Amino acid sequence: MTITVVNPATEETIATLESAGVEETDAAVRRAKEAFPSWRAVSPRDRASLLRRLASLIEEHGEELARLESQNVGKPISGARGEIGMVADVFHFYAGAIDKHYGDTIPVAGGVDMTFREPLGVVGLIVPWNFPLNIASWKVGPALAAGNTIVLKPAELTPLTAMRLEDLAKDAGIPEGVLNVVVGKGSVVGARLVAHPDVAKIGFTGSTEVGRGIMEGAAATIKRVTLELGGKSANVVYADADLEKAAAAAPYSVFDNAGQDCCARSRILVERSAYDRFAELLIEATRNLKVGDPADDATEMGPLVSAQHRQTVASFVETTPLFQGDAPDGKGYWFPATLIEATNDDRVAREEVFGPVAALIPFTDEADAIRIANDTPYGLSGSIWTRDGAKALRTARALDTGVLSINSNSSVRVSTPFGGFKQSGFGRELGMQALAGYTEVKNVFINTEG
Ligand code: NDP
Repeated sequence: MTITVVNPATEETIATLESAGVEETDAAVRRAKEAFPSWRAVSPRDRASLLRRLASLIEEHGEELARLESQNVGKPISGARGEIGMVADVFHFYAGAIDKHYGDTIPVAGGVDMTFREPLGVVGLIVPWNFPLNIASWKVGPALAAGNTIVLKPAELTPLTAMRLEDLAKDAGIPEGVLNVVVGKGSVVGARLVAHPDVAKIGFTGSTEVGRGIMEGAAATIKRVTLELGGKSANVVYADADLEKAAAAAPYSVFDNAGQDCCARSRILVERSAYDRFAELLIEATRNLKVGDPADDATEMGPLVSAQHRQTVASFVETTPLFQGDAPDGKGYWFPATLIEATNDDRVAREEVFGPVAALIPFTDEADAIRIANDTPYGLSGSIWTRDGAKALRTARALDTGVLSINSNSSVRVSTPFGGFKQSGFGRELGMQALAGYTEVKNVFINTEG
């Protein structure tokens, strides 16, 4: 079996790879298991310097990795550069975190009680195609820092940067067997990792549907799981907000990465008294979005990842859009930025589109905004725009959502926790919180009474 890797902007084949099966997956788990005892024993200082070296190699190879990611996902090169920059920062951060991940000493009678954060063993990391290396690093960084060994399965559509990461880890001096990349089908390689008795944990990002299956499969061996799943996030715009600023920013919060983003603010909720003015400004800002060749530095939106995905995205445009932008003709899986007036009961407002289609929904007051924003099975991300600080905080506290921003749409940072409420998953990535997902707490009591 082979995997054909395609450039979504040109439909040209950029690589043909052997697709791994169960045997190759088992061999990778074996290598990781053998490497675990010596990797966990590497001193914190030495492990930190290996991760720092990997971070530096990623920086040195930044342009190569960004171009590879841009060609494989069809994402604009400027965005890809930012993502690879973050990948290096993630490894720098977790290099620095290794000797700051403390246990506790707890006052007890008759002795001393202390806790240790022990690595889990072999962890299986399954990642999607939308931010391939970026999302991989959010898992690989803390997992390595905590002393685990890894089998990483990239998405079939976008395996190229994960394969380069494996090479760079070796070049950095990270021992053989510590980071193993297996390229193959989710239903084969991914499913085997979930079932494998020697895999202690699955770190997964992808669809809620596959996440549900992973949780079920993990039950058989009581595997730990971290799930980062879908989203249907609300961008709440109150009438007292800086409407120009909110409208100028809104297209980037949903059309960035062509909408293929679990954090996409794909429901734009606008207070009715400001709705018409905001809609005008939003149309203008969306019209100005630069769509085209991902290799061009000025491009802001590229194509979708595949022909099949474009078909799914198109199925969400069931009414005449309020506005639809331009997209190139000919080769490539292009889809125009699309604004649709909707109610929160419409399919476009309920399901994750994962494409450049935003639903514009009016609300009457603060209570109505909170009710609509929370009326979804998801709870990943979101934004609140208002000049009233108290209202901003009241709304933030009332939303059932893991990651929020006020008067901004940016909510992903290396040092702060990221993850969802409700069916957007559980567990936290990034920040010091991610280390909890790759360690067990061990409690040790020493009798000091002789
Ligand atoms: P999937 O959830 O199918 O894929 C994510 C990863 O899981 C891939 O590596 C995939 O492998 C793997 N996988 C698939 N099936 C299994 C399985 N049975 N056991 C273990 N691993 C498996 O997402 P899709 O790529 O199919 O995208 C579908 C939809 O999911 C999108 O339209 C979007 O709504 C949502 N999505 C959300 C993401 C997020 O960031 N939260 C990211 C990607 C998708 P392979 O690629 O080989 O199939």
